[in-house]
Amino acid sequence: MKKRENSGLYQLVLHLPGKLRIEVGGLGTFDFPAGFYVYTGSAKRGLSSRIHRHRSKVKKRFWHIDYLLAKAEIHEVRLFKNSGLSECDLARRVACKVEANVIAPGFGASDCRCQSHLVFFRSRQEL
Ligand SMILES: [Zn+2]
Repeated sequence: MKKRENSGLYQLVLHLPGKLRIEVGGLGTFDFPAGFYVYTGSAKRGLSSRIHRHRSKVKKRFWHIDYLLAKAEIHEVRLFKNSGLSECDLARRVACKVEANVIAPGFGASDCRCQSHLVFFRSRQEL
C-alpha cells in the first residue's frame, strides 16, 4: 500500500528566464524561448524521491528533463496520484491548450507516440 501511494504522475512547471540553446542528450539541440515549460512524467514507485532528484542540481544527466533542469528553475510541482490518467493522457491535456507550443519534439516521449511530454507557454497566465 505504501508503495502505491508513492507512485503516480507529476508535472514540473519550469521557468526559463532567458532564451537558451540547450543540447538535450541524443535528442538534439534546440533553442528554448524564455517562458514556462510543463513537463509531464511518471514514477511507478519512488515518486517523492524522483521529485527530490529533479530538484537536485548535481546529478548525472539521464532523462531529457535533466538537461533542461540544469538551466531552468522549478516554478511548481504538481502531483497526480490515483488520477486514473496515463502519463500520455496528462501530457496531451496540456499540449492541447491553444497557447501550447512544442519546442523539442520527442522530449520525454521516447517510449510513446506523443509529440512531446514538454510543452512551452510564453507566460504564466497561459498555463
Ligand atoms: Zn506520451
